[in-house]
Amino acid sequence: MRLSSYFLPTLKEIPAEAQIASHRLMLRAGMIRQSASGIYTWLPMGWRVLRKIEQIVREEQDAAGAQELLMPTIQSAEIWRESGRYDAYGKEMLRFTDRHDREMLYGPTNEELITQIFRDNVKSYRELPRILYHIQWKFRDEVRPRFGVMRGREFLMKDSYSFDLDYEGAKRSYTAMFNAYLRTFKRMGLTAVPMAADSGAIGGNLTHEFHVLAETGESGVYYDVAYDELAAKDAIDLDALSTLYAVTDEKHSPDAPNCPPPDRLKVARGIEVGHIFYFGTKYSEAMGARVAGPDGTPVTVEMGSYGIGVSRLVGAIIEAYHDDRGIKWPEAVAPFKVGIVNLKTGDAACDTVCEDAYAKLSAAGIEVLYDDRDERAGVKFADMDLIGLPWQLVAGPKGVAQGLVELKNRHTGEKQELSVESALARLGA
Ligand code: ATP
Ligand code: MG
Repeated sequence: MRLSSYFLPTLKEIPAEAQIASHRLMLRAGMIRQSASGIYTWLPMGWRVLRKIEQIVREEQDAAGAQELLMPTIQSAEIWRESGRYDAYGKEMLRFTDRHDREMLYGPTNEELITQIFRDNVKSYRELPRILYHIQWKFRDEVRPRFGVMRGREFLMKDSYSFDLDYEGAKRSYTAMFNAYLRTFKRMGLTAVPMAADSGAIGGNLTHEFHVLAETGESGVYYDVAYDELAAKDAIDLDALSTLYAVTDEKHSPDAPNCPPPDRLKVARGIEVGHIFYFGTKYSEAMGARVAGPDGTPVTVEMGSYGIGVSRLVGAIIEAYHDDRGIKWPEAVAPFKVGIVNLKTGDAACDTVCEDAYAKLSAAGIEVLYDDRDERAGVKFADMDLIGLPWQLVAGPKGVAQGLVELKNRHTGEKQELSVESALARLGA
């Protein structure tokens, strides 16, 4: 992609409406624009990152045996009456009527719809277990939308739903999702600590929130230091984990039997990026989702639901990876892997080196953004640091005369003078 023709409206000024770094940087780096409170347009740069994150989530869901489908954003009020949640959900649900006066809503979540689909199409225990998911926009009319995409009203969520014959099966599905979550966040460069969450009326301890630690997180969290090691793993034993203390502030109690002494208790703030939940037959019972069991008698299926805040993750990753110059994307979610900075557009030697590097990187399938604009070097450096691509290949007249370019790692700040060939080789071309 050539920056001269790319739709990337960056901002020099710090937007006054943004209170946290990720929100400021997403506006400044031309990733999003607000269209109404808590509702955003994703500009090309933001959209690329969102899709990278979505793809990692998808791959790990698929690897865990979940199957993707796509449910609509608009739902009928009828199924929510069946589950009993239509009245309970309150003002966060956006409700409206169509031209035939049918009551409709913009889905804030999909338990009802997936239960209906399951109920109408699955008849035998032989078809279990099933984990179905989609990645779809949700709408929740939050009282206080804030921090940009972190707490939006319209946001992208991955939500999975598991169906099993019994509790043992449901626990296996839950564990598969739990471990898929650890891998998902790790691939994005995040450590997400699983916290025992409030299971409310359902009871049991099978509900966890995954929190990325960040000073700007909305939740206060308390946890045993042993969690740090566990969360860095690819898979963990849920039973072992459940003895450890990790809770959000509303559940914290220094008197709890497993609350560690102060020197082993970490107090931090977290961003909730995922929430998984076993809820047994809450929806299947209310909505009649039953299958014929092995002996022919009907069995009400055991369910769980598993959410990931895909659009919130964009903000969470920036909170974890930025400095005062801009974003520092982890390679796995970066919008482009490398940016080429031509320090003297119009200079024949610089143009040749940059065009050649651009062609070779593109041919090797490497995502590259070429700053071919007729701008001052200072402007180009500032923009490149702001948008935070992992690598910068910088070509200026002095170096080019000796056949050299500079390769900068945005993460470490490390710069190296290299021949064009070695620089390209380093980048995989
Ligand atoms: P929160 O406590 O942050 O309001 P929640 O518990 O209501 O979230 P869930 O129903 O568990 O949210 O939704 C699953 C995931 O969707 C959350 O873990 C979070 O990452 C994301 N999410 C929820 N609400 C929003 C929102 N308003 N904007 C962006 N992402 C959200
Ligand atoms: Mg939650």
